[in-house]
Amino acid sequence: MAKYAYRDKDRKNIIYSDEAIEVDRNTAFFCPNHMCNAKLYICAVDGSKSAYFRATKPNFKHIKNCPFGNSSTEFDSNNYDESQFVYEDAINNLLCNTKPSSQKRTPSVHGTGEPGAHPPRILRQIYSLCKSFSVGNTYAGKEIGSMILDDRSEYRYSKGCFGNRIIEATVDGRLYNDEKKEVYLVSPINSKKYTFILSFSDEDKYKKIRSEIYNNRDKIIVIAGKWESSGEYNKFTSKVYGAKQVAIIK
Ligand SMILES: [Zn+2]
Repeated sequence: MAKYAYRDKDRKNIIYSDEAIEVDRNTAFFCPNHMCNAKLYICAVDGSKSAYFRATKPNFKHIKNCPFGNSSTEFDSNNYDESQFVYEDAINNLLCNTKPSSQKRTPSVHGTGEPGAHPPRILRQIYSLCKSFSVGNTYAGKEIGSMILDDRSEYRYSKGCFGNRIIEATVDGRLYNDEKKEVYLVSPINSKKYTFILSFSDEDKYKKIRSEIYNNRDKIIVIAGKWESSGEYNKFTSKVYGAKQVAIIK
């Protein structure tokens, strides 16, 4: 399910689901994923914020592992408080061993979400957020393309992937090295341009996450990391402290 789509095959003319009007109901739109030839139709129009695009025709479904064909990536911005979202803090909170910080909220007179809403916190929420907007859009003043490396944003990462970034990755070739306690992924999914080394110091966490990724090696694997050069061309590495940094999209 996608929150946006394109009117044209070249993916230049974007349409957001909450902009769709009655006349759009019978129009076929293009999936944001260039590799995917799904034909998308708007469901629940009337400018409804819960409207979304679905591939309703059996012959034009999303391709396997299309990130826009998965309901688990759905992001309903009404459920979150954008004004309290600070990207770097959110990622730093995933890069530690502790449980998510207490539910205490900072009262804000500028809150834009529903009462009780909090900013996107867990990786799956932040990933869904990234997939529900185009990479040139901003959320809480931060460009989506600067949060996530995926096939849409690859052009922004011509020198590599550094700092706090989410990667949309997949398994390609050798997956792990038990001696080094490392797991290997590639991103973006289609171009497989970069290799990412997940580096563990905790044996138990290494084994658990390695197995989970191995068992889902045909799926989209999303990792939050603080990436730096591994010393090898087009290879980047980050410490992985726990499961909060890993989301498997299935
Ligand atoms: Zn698709």
